Amino acid sequence: MADCLFCGIVKGDVKAEVVYRTPTLLAIKDINPQAPVHVLVIPTQHVESLNEVDDAELLGDLLMAAREVARQQRIDVRGYRVVLNTKAESGQTVPHIHVHVLGGRAMHWPPG
Ligand code: AMP
Ligand code: ZN
Repeated sequence: MADCLFCGIVKGDVKAEVVYRTPTLLAIKDINPQAPVHVLVIPTQHVESLNEVDDAELLGDLLMAAREVARQQRIDVRGYRVVLNTKAESGQTVPHIHVHVLGGRAMHWPPG
């Protein structure tokens, strides 16, 4: 989709540090990390948010990739947080669905 930042990263037009990739998604380091490990899992297909997803397999792929990223980043045993911000009040700033994988420090609850 034109003018979409994450579509630009998927196409290679915008630089990003890719840490994991499958045919349907890629995982990149967040440019403004909120934890020692902060990776975004992004489907190659443009879908604005969780509200617009009509493909359960896509959601499964995103979560399985989040788990794989956590393993590769060695935060799986100590623990990690998976966040899927949806629409404005959640804090979603990029309208292309993505899953945050955060770890490497203790997380607080409730989240802000
Ligand atoms: P959200 O607020 O849930 O929409 O998350 C968007 C995330 O994308 C934020 O954590 C940003 O730091 C991150 N971000 C924005 N631009 C880039 C970029 N060019 N490369 C990597 N991460 C980015
Ligand atoms: Zn997009």
